Amino acid sequence: MNFTKAIQDYLTSNNLIRFTPRAALIDMDGTLYDSMPGHARAWQQMMAEIGVAIDYDEMFLHEGRTGAATIDLLMRRAFGRPASDEEMRDLYRRKTEIFAAMPPVSPMPGAAEMLNFFRMAEIKCVLVTGSGQSSLLNRLDTDFPGIFDRDMRVTSRDVVNGKPHPEPFIRAMEKAGTKSYESIVVENAPLGVEAGHRSGAFTIGVTTGPVPAEALREAGADVVFGSMTECAAELPLLVYGFITTMNNYN
Ligand code: MG
Repeated sequence: MNFTKAIQDYLTSNNLIRFTPRAALIDMDGTLYDSMPGHARAWQQMMAEIGVAIDYDEMFLHEGRTGAATIDLLMRRAFGRPASDEEMRDLYRRKTEIFAAMPPVSPMPGAAEMLNFFRMAEIKCVLVTGSGQSSLLNRLDTDFPGIFDRDMRVTSRDVVNGKPHPEPFIRAMEKAGTKSYESIVVENAPLGVEAGHRSGAFTIGVTTGPVPAEALREAGADVVFGSMTECAAELPLLVYGFITTMNNYN
């Protein structure tokens, strides 16, 4: 892939002369873990338990919202009223419980290679997730050792406004000590891409589920990859403007 135009467009719209990424702000579900099918099924089951049928594919479009915001949206649609605080707490707890009881999800193929590249390139990694799902958050140190320092994680607990609001990525830039134009966002969901784009970071969209590439472009992605494996393989060219081989940084 040729990234010249994507980078030039980004530099032009941000009034910059040079592409200098120093931090990577990385989503978790559907980006680092192949967890979205499980989340979608857990949302479906939780809502079915209160008598509301929801579409499996639809849940991929809500990905990135906080649990509370998702519950509020679903309750407004089903019952024509906002969710109460108790519902937001109890229903999210139930959804979390259902997800945690499912078979463990796998790291997304290509995710470790991407993180290894960022480490080699001395680009600081910050986790940026709308999730408060401890069953996955607790696995990060095991699955991706030494990548995400404890103080380099933005979760649902750290923000007032979840994605598609840019706040989660702005918090991440504060943690990394980078400006927006020194930050790269890696996201698989339209709402996450929108949040990344609005934060001013160079935003990479990766299709890892039923959401088409076009939806990520429309949400503001500067480039879109068809898989995390492709993303990992193309990152050296994107960041440095030339190609190395995977063997050089494993
Ligand atoms: Mg995601």
